[in-house]
Amino acid sequence: MSKTKYIFVTGGVTSSLGKGIIAASLAKLLQERGYTVSIQKLDPYINIDPGTLNPYEHGECFVTNDGAETDLDLGHYERFLNTPTSQANNVTTGRIYQAVINKERKGEFLGKTVQVIPHITDEIKNRIQILGNTDKYDIVITEIGGTVGDIESLPYIEAVRQLKWELGNNNALVIHLTLVPYLAAAGELKTKPTQHSVKMLMQSGVAPDVLVCRTEHHLNNNIKEKLALFCNVQVTSIIESIDAETIYDVPNLMLNEKLDLVVLKKLQLASDNKPTLTEWNIFLNKHKNPKHTIEIGLIGKYVELHDAYKSITEAFIHAGAVNEVKVKIRWIHSESLTEANVPKKLKGLNGILVAPGFGGRGIEGKIDAVRFARENKIPFLGICLGMQMAVIEFARNVLHLEGANSIEMDDKTKHPVINLMEEQKEVTNKGGTMRLGAWNCSLKKNTKIHTIYNKDLISERHRHRYEYNNAYLKQLTAAGMFASGINPKTGLVEVIELENHPWFIGVQYHPEYKSTVLNPHPIFIDFVKASLENSL
Ligand code: GLN
Repeated sequence: MSKTKYIFVTGGVTSSLGKGIIAASLAKLLQERGYTVSIQKLDPYINIDPGTLNPYEHGECFVTNDGAETDLDLGHYERFLNTPTSQANNVTTGRIYQAVINKERKGEFLGKTVQVIPHITDEIKNRIQILGNTDKYDIVITEIGGTVGDIESLPYIEAVRQLKWELGNNNALVIHLTLVPYLAAAGELKTKPTQHSVKMLMQSGVAPDVLVCRTEHHLNNNIKEKLALFCNVQVTSIIESIDAETIYDVPNLMLNEKLDLVVLKKLQLASDNKPTLTEWNIFLNKHKNPKHTIEIGLIGKYVELHDAYKSITEAFIHAGAVNEVKVKIRWIHSESLTEANVPKKLKGLNGILVAPGFGGRGIEGKIDAVRFARENKIPFLGICLGMQMAVIEFARNVLHLEGANSIEMDDKTKHPVINLMEEQKEVTNKGGTMRLGAWNCSLKKNTKIHTIYNKDLISERHRHRYEYNNAYLKQLTAAGMFASGINPKTGLVEVIELENHPWFIGVQYHPEYKSTVLNPHPIFIDFVKASLENSL
């Protein structure tokens, strides 16, 4: 049996309390103490993965090296821990049921009636222990999505109850994250919602070991004692989680509250090396004390929900700190852009980023924005669809290939400069069928991208169906848009640049997924640097 210890994080009272950030912050502290930690998210919805979800529903779809389309919390885990996650780190109800139903079809249940308990809960327990059974981790933190009391969370809570009992005391514990609201009219913090939420959890047979309480005001001892008494939790295990200026403050806040110590004590693990968070705090200090401010336009079609671009905005925070610059984002809806209003709407921007996306809505606005960046020599970064738009813009306005387009937007175009990938032609299912995950890319010497990475071969994550059409490579290159990154096996163009432009890069891959606090992404660092130079 593996020696891995398990920590479960549940949420109560409301959603959006930041379980992912608490889990990631605790993991960070445990990592600093010398433990190997992985974090897993269990999502109680029926989609197999969030890949088929509209970004308006759940924000960004994060992609792992091994090609899993996952919840955006996995991005936080990677950014905090600086270690990659994988397929095993995100499990949905859909995936659990799919596995159980597949087994049933194969006859693996030997004639038994297949039920939520034990079959679904067994599958959940297996998924929780997959990471632990690799023997790579001392501690696995499992975040249960949703709020206690939701019908769809019940099998997960039951699986936690069973597992906690099976693993035994000192091997597993439950952290329950709740809200302690402040009633302005009464001038008081209120504990009742937390009491109810803990009661709800206990009705399912799970007693929390630690309460982390989100609050706008400090919890005094009275409040802590009251919570302890009514929730069966030691007073030292009531952890205040006060609203922070940035999510990157939370590891320090949790360190001050001794969350890591409380947890290690309960798991009977040594707690000798006190976390110093040295490198982390160097980043934080730079992030909070910028010497300059720049403004970058983010052109996308889901801009109403900033979470749809989570990894991009976080990558700017990391790269901003390196450059000691505050990166302000001007959110620009691509549907609001026209050729006529682009100069006004993009005026004063120090850099322009055209975001990833799917489908035809708003693409003409993206093309107008690319043209503005190209003609006015403003630093430009196009990511995935943004790179494809840069190719289309150049084909239309420089090569004068009228109606040039991507097959995704116009399958009858005379000039399909962006084509459906060969292996996608047979694909009919939407879920999990894109070109996903990490692929190698060779960088050509004496190009901007080569200077940025200072490497000949890189590996970056992808999520797309369409690709640069090599039939146009010669024409595009001759006119000044050249390919500087190529997939060494397939010849697929992964990076394009422009001659006679200070900083113009389009990447078919998603550099934002690999930017972390301790390892900010070189493209974002250089893009911010170029935008800063452009602002001075
Ligand atoms: N829709 C484009 C494609 O599938 C771009 C995808 C993206 O931006 N992630 O190729």
